Amino acid sequence: MCQHTPPCPTAEASDREAARPTVAHPEQGWSLLCNGVLLFEVMSISQSQGLV
Ligand SMILES: [Zn+2]
Repeated sequence: MCQHTPPCPTAEASDREAARPTVAHPEQGWSLLCNGVLLFEVMSISQSQGLV
């Protein structure tokens, strides 16, 4: 579970992909966020642009 402060968005939140990754495998193109969302690189490119 998320132990960040402030807490990350939940898996149900519209900005859930803004949560911090706990497991990242960029060579495989995915990362697991602390809210349990599995984020794929193809999605992060289109949806997380400007957040980083
Ligand atoms: Zn978190």
